[in-house]
Amino acid sequence: MTVPDDLLPFIDESTGHQAIEAGPEAWRILLVDDDADVHETTAFALRGLEIAGRGLHLLHAHSAAEALQRMRAEPDIAVVLLDVVMESEHAGLDLVARIRGELGLLNTRIVLRTGQPGQAPELETIRRYDINDYKTKSELTRQKLYVTLTAAIRSYDQLRRLEASRRGLERVIAASNQFIAEQGMVDFAEGVIIQIAGLLGVDPEGVVCAAADPLRGAPSAGGEAAGFVVIAAAGRWRHLIRRRVGELDDEAVADALLHCLRARASTSGPGFVALFFEGRGGASGDFAAYIAARTPLPAIDRQLVEVFCTNITLCAANVALVSRLREHAYVDRLLGIANRTALIEQLDARIADGSLAGQALATLDIDQFAETNDMFGHRFGDLLLQAMAQRLVQGLPGSCVVARVGGNAFAVLGPTALVRDEPLRVLLEAPLELEGVQRRISVSMSFVPCDDALPSTGSELLKDAAITMKRAKSGGHGRSEVFTRALGEDSKERTRLLHGLHRAFDHDRLFLAFQPQVDLSNGRVVGVEALLRWRAEDGRMVPPDRFIPVAEQSGLIVSLGNWCLRSGLDALVQADRAAPPGAPLLTLAVNVSPVEFAHPDFLRQLDLALADKGVAPSRLELEITESVAVVGLDHVAELLTEVRRRGVGVAIDDFGTGFSSLSYLDRLPATRLKIDRTFVSRLGSDQPGARIARMIVPLGRQLGLRVLAEGVETEDQRQALVDMGCDEAQGFLFSRPLPLPGLLDWLAASRSMA
Ligand code: C2E
Ligand code: MG
Ligand code: MG
Repeated sequence: MTVPDDLLPFIDESTGHQAIEAGPEAWRILLVDDDADVHETTAFALRGLEIAGRGLHLLHAHSAAEALQRMRAEPDIAVVLLDVVMESEHAGLDLVARIRGELGLLNTRIVLRTGQPGQAPELETIRRYDINDYKTKSELTRQKLYVTLTAAIRSYDQLRRLEASRRGLERVIAASNQFIAEQGMVDFAEGVIIQIAGLLGVDPEGVVCAAADPLRGAPSAGGEAAGFVVIAAAGRWRHLIRRRVGELDDEAVADALLHCLRARASTSGPGFVALFFEGRGGASGDFAAYIAARTPLPAIDRQLVEVFCTNITLCAANVALVSRLREHAYVDRLLGIANRTALIEQLDARIADGSLAGQALATLDIDQFAETNDMFGHRFGDLLLQAMAQRLVQGLPGSCVVARVGGNAFAVLGPTALVRDEPLRVLLEAPLELEGVQRRISVSMSFVPCDDALPSTGSELLKDAAITMKRAKSGGHGRSEVFTRALGEDSKERTRLLHGLHRAFDHDRLFLAFQPQVDLSNGRVVGVEALLRWRAEDGRMVPPDRFIPVAEQSGLIVSLGNWCLRSGLDALVQADRAAPPGAPLLTLAVNVSPVEFAHPDFLRQLDLALADKGVAPSRLELEITESVAVVGLDHVAELLTEVRRRGVGVAIDDFGTGFSSLSYLDRLPATRLKIDRTFVSRLGSDQPGARIARMIVPLGRQLGLRVLAEGVETEDQRQALVDMGCDEAQGFLFSRPLPLPGLLDWLAASRSMA
């Protein structure tokens, strides 16, 4: 069989590679006959004959049973010369049926021989069993036998090649399907070696190389050695992986690959084939595969390999595209490290296969990054992040995963010995270099040991890390915190609380209690403080000390605070209506959290509430604590000035408990000081608290502020406060905080007593 060689872009001699032709095997011919003479004459007749360049190897069987046994052991028999009548009249034809049916040998050619013309099988039989020829024994002279066998062997050879090519094509199609599912260029290239080896029937030993940066499709420098790297290698070449072709220690492999890439055509040589795969979109996408194989390839294999190469080139383009998409999805564009999605997937996988034991997950936040970004610009911020990423990647061994999990948040996953406070602090101690400028950074860190009670998903693990980070940051800058189960529980509890609070707010299960404030000089009520109350679904009261911080953290406090203000004013209007004519007007004190203060809409909402409810601003007092300082003293001072300009009062609540800086007290335009009840409770003793209470009264006086004592529970305390000259008081001694109807009753009673 000849194949027009110009169909194939194989280069042979020109490369200097010597073709080695494997010794051609002889065709196997099985002679089945019960007559010993026939065996002898046939052997004699065939001696020294050659057909299609190959010798003949005659096998002998003297019965149908023996023939069957023989063929079972040696299925590659080209021709069977078969006696029709042997043990029985049908022995020959029965054997044909079994060769085709039982043994499934469809390519083997069968030539029937019979002693007499009368024993000839019917045409139908010849057709049914695909019998090649029918001869009487007398016709089998050397000459005639040669002609018969030549035809049979040609036919056998063609059938066999057709079958091989059909199987090969099936393989190519299967391979293409598989390649579509491959996830990366490396997997893909490994698959190429395996598939080609399978196609050629050799062990998968080979090398695939491509332009240096196949994933990015960067143009390779002239397609030369330096521009190509090994992206997959199998068998004895495994060690070459990721090496540049120019640096390969196996010169033969490097030569063959380069020759193939330069000539942009497949080539072969002693013991190998080098296949060329043309890139789509220019030479930068070209790649080549070097496979150990006997050479030259039979023409049929060459054709198959060509089909395969064309197919695979298309697949490669798909794989490169998928790789790029994956890269987009998993790699942080700015820093070139894993992103949050990649880390979560990796954590998921490692939680599933149990390989996180002995590991820890750290998150690292650059402190005050937002401020730095604002002050020096985003480009500077980017440089800072890049320098930080570089420091982590270079300073940590490959066993650690470094990822970016948020704007300025990095994560490191690795062995607990490395992923802990001290080594990471040491690593980040030296200043980062940003365009020649040295810059020290402060980093907050959280650590989640991955040992016991691991959550079931990577994102939950990251959530634990976030909770821990929040805790670390609450203590200030540059701190570390290690996750504990209690911390996790605490955070879960807060989440539950917040959900409950949202529901309660939506379903009107929140209400206000009002605590009267009295003038110590005459015992008359002068105002009320509104205090928020939450009765949970089970009927129990949830103390504000628990739910207010949660509402603050979530921002819910803004709408909650606005609701308190409006409801408080409503109550004040109702109290006015219930009061006898001429009764002095009460003031309403409302607690305001720093979060509300920081909200840009604060003043507008205040004005709206006062206008809507028709209450004079002078009857309202806002209670703030010293914690408003976190919003920024300038801003608070400005805002309070606005508040005061409207005539609304400002009380400093819990005075004495914070970091009471007198200088800032001086700067805040307050109207009242509220002595915290911890000091009041110590009045009448010589404890330090009592002395502080005594100091606050003259201090307030000096600053021109009225002073109110909180938490007055006993007559002794009241008396002590009166003696000190304290203006007002509130506390259980006068009344507990009361819901509105209770307050109205209390007010009526207290007025009738006065
Ligand atoms: P606060 O503003 O200092 O409120 C005074 C707290 O002392 C109230 O606790 C009140 O019930 C309690 N109290 C009053 N007299 C006595 C007494 O004689 N003895 C004792 N042992 N306690 C007394 P409450 O209602 O549990 O509120 C706790 C804190 O929650 C408040 O402290 C305030 O900071 C905050 N809060 C309450 N309502 C609101 C609100 O509507 N908005 C904001 N932002 N915070 C609120
Ligand atoms: Mg208060
Ligand atoms: Mg207070």
